[in-house]
Amino acid sequence: MAHSIRHDWTRAEVAALFALPFNELLHRAHSVHREHHDPNAVQVSTLLSIKTGGCPEDCAYCPQAARYDTGVQAQKLMSVDAVLARAQAAKDAGASRFCMGAAWRSPKDRDVEKVAEIVRAVKGLGLETCATLGMLNGEQAKTLKSAGLDYYNHNLDTAPEFYGEIIHTRQYQDRLDTLEQVREAGLKTCCGGIVGMGETRDQRAGLLQTLANLPEHPESVPINQLVQVEGTPLSGTEAIDPFDFVRTIAVARILMPASMVRLSAGRQQMDDAVQALCFFAGANSIFYGEKLLTTGNPDVEHDRQLFKRLNLHALEVVETSGTVHADIVEHCAA
Ligand code: SF4
Repeated sequence: MAHSIRHDWTRAEVAALFALPFNELLHRAHSVHREHHDPNAVQVSTLLSIKTGGCPEDCAYCPQAARYDTGVQAQKLMSVDAVLARAQAAKDAGASRFCMGAAWRSPKDRDVEKVAEIVRAVKGLGLETCATLGMLNGEQAKTLKSAGLDYYNHNLDTAPEFYGEIIHTRQYQDRLDTLEQVREAGLKTCCGGIVGMGETRDQRAGLLQTLANLPEHPESVPINQLVQVEGTPLSGTEAIDPFDFVRTIAVARILMPASMVRLSAGRQQMDDAVQALCFFAGANSIFYGEKLLTTGNPDVEHDRQLFKRLNLHALEVVETSGTVHADIVEHCAA
C-alpha cells in the first residue's frame, strides 16, 4: 500500500517514530523508500563555495562567520570562468547536480545578477543547478529562476524552539519567509538541518516535523551531522550516537517519502557501515568530490569504492528538449 504524503504530522507522532525499536524503524523506513525510489540508486551532487567566509551572521556551527576565529580565509565571489571549470570537473567525475554556496546574510541585487550569470553558464553544461546564498526577496528569487536555477538551498537548521540557542542574528520566521519566496518563484527547495548540535531527540523530531509540515515537502532534504570546527561555539559539543543519526535519516524518509534525503556535512566522520545503514534507512543523495564548503568530504575514489561494495549506482541527469530532469521522478514507483 502506498504511503500517503502528509503535511499534518504532530510532534507526538514523530517522537513515536524516533522511539521505535531500531530494526522496526529501519524496516518501516526502507519499505517507504522502496515504494518511492530505486533503493540502489544514489544521486550525486557537488558543492562548491563560490564566495567564502566573512559572513556577518553568528550561526554557532559555522566556520565562515566572520566573528569566529577559525582560520577560514575570506574570498570574494569567484568569476564565471573559474566556477565553470569546477562544474565541468564535477560533471566529469559523475555529478549530476552542481551546488554553489556563498556566505552572505542576504545577497545584494548586484550579487544576484552575478550569480545569475554563473547559473546560466553552469546550466549550459547540462548540470542541474542549486544555490545557497542566504535570505532572498521575491524579486531576487525570480531573477535566479529566470537564469535557470533549479534548486535553492535554505536550511531550517534545527527545531524552532532550539533555534535561538544556535543563531541570534535572525529569526526562524526569516527562514520560512525566504522558503516561501523561493517556492513562489517556482524554484524547487532544498531544505534540511543539522543534528549533533546538542539538541534533544524531541528537538530532532521538531526539525523533521517542521520540514514535513511545510506547504510542499522540500525536493531535497539534507541531513547534516555537525562538523565541529575549532573556534566555533559548538566545538566540543558531545557527538551524536551514530544510531541516532541513522534514526534521523529513517524518520525523514518516512515523513517525506518522495523527497531526496541527502547525507551532507559530517559524512567524513561516518564509517562505511554507518553510511550503508543510512542508505538502507532512506538516504539517496550525497555530496561528492569538492570540499563541502569549508570542511572536508570523503574523496571521490573512496566513494566510488563504497558504491561498488554496496552495488549502488549514481543517478544520472536526463536531458529532454533543453530541460534537465533528474533523479526524482524516473525512479519513483509510487
Ligand atoms: S551558516 Fe551561512 S549564514 Fe550562517 S554564518 Fe555560515 S555562511 Fe553565514
